[in-house]
Amino acid sequence: MKGPRSDNLAVSRAVGANVAALRRTRGISQRTLASTTEQTGKSVGFSTICRMEKAAAPGAAPVAVYVDDVVSLAAALGVTVQQLITTPNCNACMDSPPPGFACRTCGATA
Ligand SMILES: [Zn+2]
Repeated sequence: MKGPRSDNLAVSRAVGANVAALRRTRGISQRTLASTTEQTGKSVGFSTICRMEKAAAPGAAPVAVYVDDVVSLAAALGVTVQQLITTPNCNACMDSPPPGFACRTCGATA
């Protein structure tokens, strides 16, 4: 049974999905991302990244994401907080192709 609570974490789900997709377009692992956040204001652990990405999968139990983690992950991934909390228009590049590349699906450039 699905309670109302799971629907209240749509933003946390979007963050998890965006982190997973942005990592893929940049070709970096969860461990690399975790160590990159150590250079930002707040380090985000490998297990935290792993958990938020898993929680974003369809049917998975949602996990609330901390705002401080979102700010740190956005900095580490080179996107804005707004981009990280919003479901992107283009699922291929997440509206943020890597620097120097153009998206083959939507044509966006970094
Ligand atoms: Zn695109």
